[in-house]
Amino acid sequence: MKRVFKKLIFATIPFLLVGCGPTPTVTSDDKKAEQVDTNPDNNNNNGSAEENNNNNENNNNNNNNGSDEENNNGAHNHEWNNTYESDENNHWFKCKTCNEKKDEAAHDFNEWEVTNLGTLLNDSRYNVNNIKKRKCKVCGYEEKASILPEIRFTFDKNDTNKDFATKARSTDKTRPSVSGKISVTNVGEDMAITDAVATMKVRGNQTAGFDKKGLQIKFDKKQSMLGVNGGKKFKKWVLLADAKDTTISRTALGLTMAKGVIAENSKVFSCDYTPVSVYLNDEYWGMYMLADAKEVKEGRIKLDEPIIETKDENGKKVETPVTTTDIGYCFEMDYYAKNEPDKGADGDPTFSIDYGSYFNKNSFNIESCLANSGLGVVNTYTMNSDINDGPSNAHIDDKNSNQVKFIKNRLQALFTVLAEASKNNVAKDINDNNEVVSTTLSVKQTIEKNFDLNTWAEGFVINAVCLPPDVGYSSFYMSFDNTANGNKQLRFDNPWDFDSNFGNRRNFIEKPDEVSQSSGGWGGGSSFDPYFMDRTANMWLQLLGKLDFFMNDYVKPKWNAARENKTFEKMLGMLNVYYEYFDEEYDRNFKKWPTTQASDNNVGSYFNGDGVNSGELRKPFVNVNDRKQAQQETINWLTKRVNYLEKRWGNNRPSVTADK
Ligand SMILES: [Zn+2]
Ligand SMILES: [Zn+2]
Repeated sequence: MKRVFKKLIFATIPFLLVGCGPTPTVTSDDKKAEQVDTNPDNNNNNGSAEENNNNNENNNNNNNNGSDEENNNGAHNHEWNNTYESDENNHWFKCKTCNEKKDEAAHDFNEWEVTNLGTLLNDSRYNVNNIKKRKCKVCGYEEKASILPEIRFTFDKNDTNKDFATKARSTDKTRPSVSGKISVTNVGEDMAITDAVATMKVRGNQTAGFDKKGLQIKFDKKQSMLGVNGGKKFKKWVLLADAKDTTISRTALGLTMAKGVIAENSKVFSCDYTPVSVYLNDEYWGMYMLADAKEVKEGRIKLDEPIIETKDENGKKVETPVTTTDIGYCFEMDYYAKNEPDKGADGDPTFSIDYGSYFNKNSFNIESCLANSGLGVVNTYTMNSDINDGPSNAHIDDKNSNQVKFIKNRLQALFTVLAEASKNNVAKDINDNNEVVSTTLSVKQTIEKNFDLNTWAEGFVINAVCLPPDVGYSSFYMSFDNTANGNKQLRFDNPWDFDSNFGNRRNFIEKPDEVSQSSGGWGGGSSFDPYFMDRTANMWLQLLGKLDFFMNDYVKPKWNAARENKTFEKMLGMLNVYYEYFDEEYDRNFKKWPTTQASDNNVGSYFNGDGVNSGELRKPFVNVNDRKQAQQETINWLTKRVNYLEKRWGNNRPSVTADK
């Protein structure tokens, strides 16, 4: 069976790579025709193609002499095609000259063949059997459908209403969590879960303002979920809604890309995922992406969180987190850091650094409404890993936590070292007290010493392809391992949050391969250079991108490795599978959630407190009814983007669209 699918992918991908979108309903496919016995009634079929053509001409000549009726009393000599035409229900032979059908009959299907994306894309990571297809024995027509796993959350109290999942706003200080049980159904026995104790709550910042909200699951006991992340067990999992993505594929695209760009031995963690259907108390709740929670844990974000183990008076093991500064730090560049103090015990520690005189809006030429509309460049950070030596919600620049103080001072020093190198071509280093000091190292040496450039190259490539409008704003993660075994280098980590990317956002980079004009909003009326990376409001990416050795020695090899392992072909192939198999899932989802709420007809402001904004998306991504067009545009956009970056960084490979 495997061989069949491998064959299929070669037959399928060219369709897609040519950019013609959803594979059309099969009408006449040569390969399928080969499987079909020649129709015995079709006398014209005995000759060569040339003879057939002659016959056609003769027929045409005959027809030109008058109408069919005059010639033959409505019964001209039909000349039947020798391949079947078909729609989703029937197959038939069509006359070459009129539209008469012959031998029309319902498809006679073989059994369903259950398979998965991994088999189609030759990638064992996507091993959930979530798609199926069957072939008509007669005409070869293929019916394709999804069999998405179902994640069913049932509340403990039957009378609990679903307010927790519908009422949350992006600015809510706390998100109520509801207790209940989770079952995973519509899967094989090996992946099924029955009534596992768990809680659920709404997750996310701005996205929590949409009707279809992201959800977080927290199991009582660690659970493996649908083979995600190699089947490792964790308590926390997330369900991403992709609420502003009419293709519900951007999370999948982004995370698939991350897996392809990030080297196997890289320190960068990227979340794994699989598409699912979600039910709350047996009510269908939509198509979601089940994904890893972005937490620092063995098997997820790779950082040491040293624990001191002692025993209490009864000999029972006691684990105490280390309170010195020699721990692993993971943090997010985060516009929303300012909201953390309001969350009380739920809040995370935050800190800020000062970009000082190195940041100058004019000299940096930043393209972002955030910078241009007075919000400036985000210099606040929220801890993702635990801080153990202060109040759990040690807030911006808390003076009582040495750990927060340490990472704040180290990041400040790292920024200064990078800015001196990039803006002034001056080499600086950092001493044990996190002070910037002079050095005999070269600029290149000092950057290579203080930054894990392989991880930054991975982050640079990922962001350059998918172009997140908000990469200078939030959901941008970095780590610093200050444990005894840590490399004490700043690293890019955990690529995250893809729903505005890949050309979804209006007034951003709509043309991924040529300069385009913005009409205001996000771009503040500027023109967009499609390269963007040297104008992003993300200071780290912008400053690194201006260092020639970083681009030549790190980014370009990383790009070429991603091309060699067919990362982008795989992404396009994945989109194709979504097109062909998930139709009913999309229909069901959009029946439940008929608008993205990021569309033109919603009034209000982006920052009005409920996350609903006045038109965040560009056409054709605005209206869920334009889904097919949106999927096609996503393919076109990605194809153009890859070809553009190939010209800039690559080895002149042929267009990704013409690869096969
Ligand atoms: Zn005819
Ligand atoms: Zn058929």
